[in-house]
Amino acid sequence: MELYLVIYFFVVLTGIVYGAEKGQLASGIVWTILLGPLGILVVALLPNLKDIIKCPFCKGDAVRGASKCKNCGSSISVIMDS
Ligand SMILES: [Zn+2]
Repeated sequence: MELYLVIYFFVVLTGIVYGAEKGQLASGIVWTILLGPLGILVVALLPNLKDIIKCPFCKGDAVRGASKCKNCGSSISVIMDS
């Protein structure tokens, strides 16, 4: 039983670290607590929020590194580099 708790602790810890890396800290905690090791798989499938930025023109979600906003078509590559 104690071994199970230790493993569970490290699984949740992995979810926290992994989730934080993707900007999904809360999801990492919740999914690994609910599902254990399967929760890590769920976190792996979540989009990396650190790759999503706000377009300064339309305030919609844009992918980091893209040259144009997919919502309004504005050129945003220069803004992202700064
Ligand atoms: Zn836009």
